[in-house]
Amino acid sequence: MPATKAAQLKYIASLVAECHKCSLFKTAINHVPGDGNPEADIVFIGEAPGEQEDKQGLPFVGNSGKLLDKLLATIRIDRSEVFICNILKHRPPNNRDPMPDEIRVCTPFLKAQLKIIAPKIIITLGRFSMKFLFPDESISRIHGQIRNISWQGLPLVIIPVYHPSAGLRNGAMLQALQKDFLSIGKFLEKIQ
Ligand code: SF4
Repeated sequence: MPATKAAQLKYIASLVAECHKCSLFKTAINHVPGDGNPEADIVFIGEAPGEQEDKQGLPFVGNSGKLLDKLLATIRIDRSEVFICNILKHRPPNNRDPMPDEIRVCTPFLKAQLKIIAPKIIITLGRFSMKFLFPDESISRIHGQIRNISWQGLPLVIIPVYHPSAGLRNGAMLQALQKDFLSIGKFLEKIQ
């Protein structure tokens, strides 16, 4: 009998814990593989752990996470229903941007997680996770759009939105995020 999705995700997390494929493990306190419902229909992908995430070993638990929780509440989704993870599994020092080589060596973990969960919908948070699926696109052009793609044999709906940290820094970005989440809510109502 195949291992449960939860067991398979736990195995991926154990590989992340031992990973030395880039230098980020040296400066991070914890690995942050991702967290949530292994049976989720919706996966959120952010950029990389920040300070609080690094301290707690969990994704989106700092200020960006609090804003994400509020945005989820507007579309009546609880975290327990979804899976949340990042492009990088260790925190870049001082929250700098992920480097191309780090993304290249780390994203096989994300790909493995997505294949195990096999979600129906992926909501990318910020430009790095958007570029993971749409390398030639720009977040300012496609945020809020609902796109159907086939990814590694999986039929997926992808909805890119700005990263919550951008919404914390900039009022216009926050308004765009709120508007995009309203569109997500309407889309989810329509398909339920
Ligand atoms: S960030 Fe990713 S590739 Fe780099 S050490 Fe951590 S798990 Fe490995």
